[in-house]
Amino acid sequence: MNADSTSPRSDAISAPADAPFGTLPLSPAVLANLQRLGYERMTPIQAASLPLALAGRDLVAQAKTGSGKTAAFALPLLARLDARSFAVQALVLCPTRELAEQVTQEIRRLARAEDNIKVLTLCGGATMRPQVASLAHGAHVVVGTPGRIMDHLARESLSLAALNTLVLDEADRMLDMGFADDIGYVVNRCPSDRQTLLFSATYPPGVIGMAKRFMRNPAEVKLAERH
Ligand code: ADP
Ligand code: MG
Repeated sequence: MNADSTSPRSDAISAPADAPFGTLPLSPAVLANLQRLGYERMTPIQAASLPLALAGRDLVAQAKTGSGKTAAFALPLLARLDARSFAVQALVLCPTRELAEQVTQEIRRLARAEDNIKVLTLCGGATMRPQVASLAHGAHVVVGTPGRIMDHLARESLSLAALNTLVLDEADRMLDMGFADDIGYVVNRCPSDRQTLLFSATYPPGVIGMAKRFMRNPAEVKLAERH
């Protein structure tokens, strides 16, 4: 069938699915690291997302679990980091501690090509004080749950003044878990001159509303249940 919902929008088809990572504007060190990790070809969501995200576009990307969405936002945010500046330049919001830890691990694996990138996980349930101490030492990337990120912003242990990339991962689950207000609080404290990347397994009205409120003319990349 030829339904629009089964293929990315025309403005999103920038690389064929299964294209090698070498077709992207990534440094030789990053490409070598991907090869070391066994990432030879892009998954369909990566092929559709990465050219747009690396070019700085805001992006709404929908694809099922296990399709490789983490690298689709991690590579663009890492490409933009200034390792010499120990200010938080990228923030990834996730629905749960478990997911935040998985995302942190994947970003660290992908960041191995770069110089000493510090990725910090900030989730609820853990005591505040060690997190505050870690933040005081500086981090390039923060991954966390909306409520705890909000708490750190409120007590000013976290500043997003130098942020250039905001990622809303598993946006549908974050809304299901009642994080809409917390997300709004956090987004309102991000610089307006930023890239916003939203990833979701489904695309319900609440997620569409978030994209409209928080993003600048986002490209939409939707992949069906097939690979
Ligand atoms: P999602 O967020 O869509 O659920 P993940 O980003 O967690 O998916 O990726 C699922 C798994 O696939 C991870 O183990 C990841 O390391 C692996 N992976 C991602 N991209 C590639 C790739 N291009 N080639 C090989 N493995 C990949
Ligand atoms: Mg994921």
